[in-house]
Amino acid sequence: MAKPASPECCIACLSRPTGTAEAFFTEEHIIPRALGGELTWYALCKQCNDRFGHTFEKRAKTDPAIRLAIHKLRNVLPDLFGDIEEGQPYIVESGGKRLPAMFRGGEIRALTRTVDGDLWAAPDQAEAAVGGKLKRAGLSADEIDAAWTRYSEGPESTPIELGAGLHAASHPTRLVGPDLGKGETLGKLVALKIAYEFAALHFGAVMLDDTPPLNEIRRALREGDETSPVFQVEYKMTTDRKTEAFHGIAFEGNLPHAVMQVRLFGLLAYRVRFPTLRIEHKPFGLHQDLCTGDQVTAYRDN
Ligand SMILES: [Zn+2]
Repeated sequence: MAKPASPECCIACLSRPTGTAEAFFTEEHIIPRALGGELTWYALCKQCNDRFGHTFEKRAKTDPAIRLAIHKLRNVLPDLFGDIEEGQPYIVESGGKRLPAMFRGGEIRALTRTVDGDLWAAPDQAEAAVGGKLKRAGLSADEIDAAWTRYSEGPESTPIELGAGLHAASHPTRLVGPDLGKGETLGKLVALKIAYEFAALHFGAVMLDDTPPLNEIRRALREGDETSPVFQVEYKMTTDRKTEAFHGIAFEGNLPHAVMQVRLFGLLAYRVRFPTLRIEHKPFGLHQDLCTGDQVTAYRDN
């Protein structure tokens, strides 16, 4: 795909370059890069791009629906799976307790935490965690070594006396799964951002008019205001489809006002309605294959 030319002004705040366009515009991924989006455009000022990066990009990958989708595609898209899951929370089970864990560098690692008054540590951190506790309890280095030997050589799942009234047991750990409870649902704002930027890219200056409805869309985006009446987002996880390795963005036409659709991983569909906007253009869509990176724009007849 040829690189699209930059607009006259930042598409989010309408500020204009004072120097060269190259110095002013920063590269923006219309579908967040964190989700594998490859369509880019130099169309945001640095301030807007930084703000979007810190909000939309960060939020999008914690969305439980996104995480479930990439889990289903992990064998097809292993690199994107690793990128999305890096640093995300998981749950493991050990000694009858559910414990927090984290995906790091391709592995799920239990986190050292105090749960119900007991200190739980991953096997590779257990010696340091136990040693620290015993040291604070006043044991000498030799006593700590002896306690650690008793612990390491003792039977599994059995409390071993370490000294100073402290006990420790080693338990096998079992993966429960990703911890989806902490994720934010992909805000309406992420879908709005993708739809608006795609419309600005394809429809050009008409989307950048300094008019109250368009200014309100941009304000909602910049300020993260999900309640603005200038857009509505309907989310549906289509049940007749399965996860597939593609993203799509489409302009569906005026029904009777402009409607865009954002589809992520083939399955997650967000319909973005703009009740104050009509765009005179035929419906069309962009399809990005997540395996090959190929992007195809297709038009359809009304
Ligand atoms: Zn800006």
